[in-house]
Amino acid sequence: MSGNPSRLDEFGLIRRHFAPLAAGQAGAFGLTDDGALIEIGDGERLVVTADTMVAGVHFPVDDPPDQIARKLLRVNLSDLAAMGAEPRNYTLSVVLPPEIDDTWLAAFAAGLATDQKLYGIGLIGGDTVSTTGPLTFSLTAFGTLAGKATLRRNAAVVDDDIYVSGTIGDASLGLAIIQARFDAASDDDRDFLITRFRLPEPRLSLGQSLIGVARAAADVSDGLVADLGHICRASSCSAAIRLNLVPLSGPAERAVTDRQSLHHSLLTGGDDYELVFTAPVAMRGALERISSKCGVSLARIGQCVGAQNETPLVAVLDGAGNRIDLGHGGYRHFKKGQEKGEKGR
Ligand code: ADP
Ligand code: MG
Repeated sequence: MSGNPSRLDEFGLIRRHFAPLAAGQAGAFGLTDDGALIEIGDGERLVVTADTMVAGVHFPVDDPPDQIARKLLRVNLSDLAAMGAEPRNYTLSVVLPPEIDDTWLAAFAAGLATDQKLYGIGLIGGDTVSTTGPLTFSLTAFGTLAGKATLRRNAAVVDDDIYVSGTIGDASLGLAIIQARFDAASDDDRDFLITRFRLPEPRLSLGQSLIGVARAAADVSDGLVADLGHICRASSCSAAIRLNLVPLSGPAERAVTDRQSLHHSLLTGGDDYELVFTAPVAMRGALERISSKCGVSLARIGQCVGAQNETPLVAVLDGAGNRIDLGHGGYRHFKKGQEKGEKGR
């Protein structure tokens, strides 16, 4: 944050300065979705998404280079997953300070090679420049959609079930361990949580299977409550979820035992890269089948409940149905008090 009190958070900045530039571009969705759509003819459509990672903000400077590379690719793949797209190609821009040497870059490239194979995506271009500032990467991923339908954030309706894939909160605990703010119960738990921070698993097959089944979807990058809030805002509805239905891994369960505020913080911690989505009640059976076909667990955590002017947009309820106050709902760049490096990822 620059210290300029008139500066908005990232979403305010996007709305004010960039969304007007996307006016009239149907596939830009007003810059409110996980990616954009370009019609390329023959019934195929291209999904485009970009994400940038800055050392000291999005990843600790001394993280292993291959894992930084893989995470950079995977966070973009996660946006493709949230749109139901199949990965095709990507471009990569690297901004290198002098201390980044050839050995570092070889390890970085090896990480990309591993995940290119794993996810069936290939590099097609980019840019390489030097800087006296922090190490920075920007990646733009391109995916395709075969049919007419897509997954969007704006189609949730009242009474929809709300689901989340996998488990929530592991990555924020992993980051806390890396930053020595927290320690896990055992070495195995520590390794698991750190790996969940460094190597998210983009839910690509799940996303593709949700087309025509889910109504609205987003990936969880800023935190479950914040990203579900994005769905609610885009869909003009609000949501109620139950804390005890939000799925935790074994290591996360052990971490939050007897630590209520840590448990609450997992719902606003970022970097899960799971999918949060809504679906009509009639789709419960179909979703069970999709879950077993994709090998990804799905938890039904709540419902879309009412008009958008409900406060808060996303209510988190305890076992007795009382609202839990979580404070601010997710990580925001450029928000007062969140200086560069505070997040450390
Ligand atoms: P995500 O967390 O899914 O990657 P972001 O929160 O980074 O999405 O961005 C929200 C939306 O705003 C996306 O549609 C993204 O493409 C768009 N966006 C962000 N920054 C810019 C920018 N500088 N110019 C145009 N669009 C942007
Ligand atoms: Mg996203």
